Amino acid sequence: MHRGFVFVGLVTALLGLGCGGEDAAAPVAEPAHPAAEAEAAPARQGVAAVDDARLRGAGGEANNWLSHGRDYAEQRFSPLEQVNDTNASGLLRAWTFETGLTRGHEATPIVVDGRMYLTGSWSVVFALDARTGELLWKHDPLVPRETAVKACCDVVNRGVAVYRGLVYVGALDGRLLALDAETGQVVWEVVTVDQEKDYTVTGAPRIVKGKVMIGNGGAEFGVRGYISAYDALTGELAWRTYTVPGDPSKPFESEALEQAAKTWTGEWWKRGGGGTAWDSMAFDASLDLLYVGTGNGSPWSRYARSPDGGDNLYVSSILALDPDTGELAWHFQTTPGDNWDYTATQHMILADLMIDGRLRKVIMQAPKNGFFWVIDRMDGSFISAEPYVTVTWADGVDPKTGRPIPNGSGEYRDGLALVRPTAFGGHNWQPMSFNPRTGLVYIPAQEILGAYMMEKELLDRPKHFNTGSDFAVFATLTREVVSGHLLAWDPVNQKEAWRHPYAMPWNGGTLTTAGNLVFQGTADGRFLALRADDGQKLWEAHAGSGVIAAPVTYAVDGVQYVTVVAGWGGAFALAGGDAAAQAGVVSRGIVNTYALSDQPITPALVSELLASRPEPYRGRENLFHTWCARCHGSRAVGSGVLADLRYSVGRLGESFETIVRHGVSGLGMPGFDGILDEEEIRELRAYLETRAEQDGIAP
Ligand code: CA
Repeated sequence: MHRGFVFVGLVTALLGLGCGGEDAAAPVAEPAHPAAEAEAAPARQGVAAVDDARLRGAGGEANNWLSHGRDYAEQRFSPLEQVNDTNASGLLRAWTFETGLTRGHEATPIVVDGRMYLTGSWSVVFALDARTGELLWKHDPLVPRETAVKACCDVVNRGVAVYRGLVYVGALDGRLLALDAETGQVVWEVVTVDQEKDYTVTGAPRIVKGKVMIGNGGAEFGVRGYISAYDALTGELAWRTYTVPGDPSKPFESEALEQAAKTWTGEWWKRGGGGTAWDSMAFDASLDLLYVGTGNGSPWSRYARSPDGGDNLYVSSILALDPDTGELAWHFQTTPGDNWDYTATQHMILADLMIDGRLRKVIMQAPKNGFFWVIDRMDGSFISAEPYVTVTWADGVDPKTGRPIPNGSGEYRDGLALVRPTAFGGHNWQPMSFNPRTGLVYIPAQEILGAYMMEKELLDRPKHFNTGSDFAVFATLTREVVSGHLLAWDPVNQKEAWRHPYAMPWNGGTLTTAGNLVFQGTADGRFLALRADDGQKLWEAHAGSGVIAAPVTYAVDGVQYVTVVAGWGGAFALAGGDAAAQAGVVSRGIVNTYALSDQPITPALVSELLASRPEPYRGRENLFHTWCARCHGSRAVGSGVLADLRYSVGRLGESFETIVRHGVSGLGMPGFDGILDEEEIRELRAYLETRAEQDGIAP
């Protein structure tokens, strides 16, 4: 069915070389949609030839994954079915690529015509051959490391956007960069935030009607949220829409913000107000509406933020904006007067559902507050909401008004309140997916007990959390009060279809396919395939680190691949203490790609591959395997017991030779003086340097 896969996979695995021969990413010679390409200049063609028409039709491009949620509806549903519920148990590793970075990896890779674009931690961008994992280029925007203290939730990045030959990334320090998709070089760069304030950017940009949409985060620190739109080709600011009102003694930026100001009390603007749009977006081209999820109020405590009450628009809301102007068309607030960091930045999915005999155009969201929302996306009217995890702070949602009914148990003005869900949410940023064939939404759900208490005195600590809450209550976060599960949710009937339980929360996002499959990685470093209709587990692999990112699937040369980026980190991994430590993983970035194989590995095939290694690489590899590999690993890949020499060789510099010659007394590393001569030690170093280069590990 797809002969040659094992050959390619083995060549890559054994030699760490590109597959050679065929061009995996043949450039598109002609623009697919000449009319759409005609007016814009410069006319970018060749690689990453993604225009507006392709973005609008992204759902139909089975082989590709053109935008963050796969298409504008953000369903994360792939029509590919070569891998399906009858054969998923035969998935094998096709290739891996190590980013050479530690800390959280949250990227959804973008795949365009055989090339894959993704980010690691610190906003570093990688372009890979999607068939082999070979590194095509890497761009490190050199985010100043002191930015980390302003990031609530690790130095993460959720991925790039690709359009007209450019690759867009929002860097942690607030820059938006457009890179040449062929070379990785910067084409333009703008600063999207006031870098004196505690803003960060971690979300994936979206491209809508020739503009790059980018938000920001920082509502734990005291900022005012907004979303910006830039001309995709020039980087010129097209519009900026604030999500919460500013100082009312100055003119409001819009009528919508003037209205919003009536729902605030006190001097909220002095502490920013929050409402940061740090992740979710979706677009309906026929309605011409851009949907943006907004975050929590800043500070968290509404007693500190808006002391005499009020809904505090537009925090914790879904906003529908005119994509040309940023003007607000309608809003829906999922947590009026948010008091618990109940962001509505969680992933939004657009779908057309038959509800009570009517086909409804809906938005679905499972925000942190624990209710699964179905909203009419034409006008923002309420359809339904039910708890998808344990909810203690409210007794449901009023079916007439669509407002949650708080029961008082979550109030903490006068003392400690134990609340479910917690600030980590019943579901966080990890994307969910929707399968139109099963009619189910697959939610990375979690149960974490939250403890809230007022800070005795509201402080203003620059570059640190200013939430109005006393973080001493973090001491209650232990492994006994947390769990997670993959939840299959029926959005029409608002009820659970099935669940797959995990010991831990903070598992990865989900992918679902026409092959009746749902894929999810786990906090404890596994990657699973389950049957989409009934939740039967069909396959599991080791991902090499904790997985928080969402998988993607694509096809090249008739072979369907499934990719997930591993890399343990993010808010819960950093702050969770004992509850997070039970993951038992190390944090390192690994791009894992799997495919089916029908070609057995034979002695003849292995001999052929070994013989095909070029000299002097073959000699060096044989030398390494004779003397070093039985402790330091086949092809110098460490499994975490001893030093991984691909990483060590660059760091050791001149002391490499000394260590090899004289050993390290006390560590059990023997000296090779008198066994290996100087030339052989140089050859070993050259081998390790080549291996580091092959695996994208920076010297
Ligand atoms: Ca938050």
